[in-house]
Amino acid sequence: MKKYRQAIWDEPLLIEISKQGRRGFSLPSIEPDLVTQFGNIESLIPKEMHRSEKPDLPALSELQVLRHFIRLSQMNFAIDLGFYPLGSCTMKYNPKISDRICSSSSLRQLHPYQPESSSQGILEILYRLATMLENITGEDRVSLIPAAGAHGEYIGALIMKAYHSDQEGKNNKRVEMIVPDSAHGTNPASASMAGYQVVTVDSDKRGMVDIDKLRSIVSERTAGIMLTVPNTLGLFEKDIVLISKMVHDAGGLLYYDGANMNALLGRVRPGDMGFDIIHLNVHKTFSTPHGGGGPGAGPIGVKRHLVPYLPTPLIEKEDQTFKLNYDLPNSVGSVKSFYGNIGVLVRVYVYLLLMGRDGLKKSSELAVLASNYLLSKLDKTYYPISHDKDIMRKHEFVVSSKPLLEKGVRALDVAKKILDEGMHAPSIYFPLIVNEAIMIEPTETEPIEELDKYAEVLNRIGREAMADPEAIFNSPILTSIGRLDEYKASHPKTMKLTWKSLRDGEN
Ligand SMILES: *Cc1c(COP(=O)(O)O)cnc(C)c1O
Repeated sequence: MKKYRQAIWDEPLLIEISKQGRRGFSLPSIEPDLVTQFGNIESLIPKEMHRSEKPDLPALSELQVLRHFIRLSQMNFAIDLGFYPLGSCTMKYNPKISDRICSSSSLRQLHPYQPESSSQGILEILYRLATMLENITGEDRVSLIPAAGAHGEYIGALIMKAYHSDQEGKNNKRVEMIVPDSAHGTNPASASMAGYQVVTVDSDKRGMVDIDKLRSIVSERTAGIMLTVPNTLGLFEKDIVLISKMVHDAGGLLYYDGANMNALLGRVRPGDMGFDIIHLNVHKTFSTPHGGGGPGAGPIGVKRHLVPYLPTPLIEKEDQTFKLNYDLPNSVGSVKSFYGNIGVLVRVYVYLLLMGRDGLKKSSELAVLASNYLLSKLDKTYYPISHDKDIMRKHEFVVSSKPLLEKGVRALDVAKKILDEGMHAPSIYFPLIVNEAIMIEPTETEPIEELDKYAEVLNRIGREAMADPEAIFNSPILTSIGRLDEYKASHPKTMKLTWKSLRDGEN
């Protein structure tokens, strides 16, 4: 691929190119008959609700607005534009037919306040989707309501809390949630938001949960353990059955972070491994666009003993009709308006129908193959693999760019240099237990040529870093925006989030 874009734009804000009097529309004046009948607009709106000043809105022509947004869209990077191997995030290709079905008028025009009698179609789709996810995860009941993985985690932690408090009443001593040191940051955050004390269990030399350490931590204070399988190093927890028994024997529950289900579809099920609660990041595992803060969905599945605690409402099927059941006295309650992010969920349903049981199994086999193939092509003098190199990785792997530190080149510099090749950077500095971590997840949807090219680019960057590190520090130079100040770009105190703060120079 040639460099897809050379220009560096300084795209002004709409408010900066605004000229009073410009319009992108023209409305006819109100017909005199209507004014006679109803009075003029000012008299229709109660006085106390009149504005004292006109709103400060940009005034522009339609063409100016159109060009602004098209230019912005071209400054963006997307899976539809190039390789996007963001570890843990599973940026796989999204079949366009899902978008087409989702934007069909019968789905688009549905309204959440419609009565159940006229929403039977969507209720049936959601009911069937929940059943499919129950089969895939091996759990007894799935709720599609949570809006993202982290939301599912939080609700899962609340469910654990409600369960333990019912089981143990006033004597409930279960205040600790065990989380491995390789976990995604949302795990300890969700547990802590639900009121748990987070207890970290270290990883051992293999990169897996240290069983002896776990044994010393598990107690009658344990509410549960949150595990990602395969973990964020791309390794399947070999001792999962033992871990499951250890925590259950102590009266704790097992929570499965399903962000990495892409490695296991159709082969093993978290429910069969003993997990009591699981969330799926359907926007990762089952396609559907995500990233940049777009909507996702984080359905949760639970075993039978936890079904009464699921959030309201649950979709039930009675005599061939579907209804929303709000009558769940032990439920953790309402956690989101209406019934989940329907647009995302419908895409998941279409994806599952397209793939079928065999297709899903094949997809995770290919994801694991692609990841191991790409890993095999990387030059380990620049990018040694983290932890035990003899254990096979699943759908993602973590290498370290530590050897490049000798020349002052960090994982961040490598990531920025990749952008100049028209490809997306991998995840970096995650998981936290690997120095200069580079976490790559190619997914099953990439052709082998893209994998070869990515390895070639990374290896070349490694050679360049050793020979001429200065050339790397300036990257990226071919993107629409050069290197950002990492601190200012992410610190709430220095981010400028509104045009007013830019205009006034406020923080
Ligand atoms: C993405 C991710 C999460 C959080 O999921 P969101 O849908 O982004 O809220 C949690 N755990 C892991 C391992 C993840 O990769």
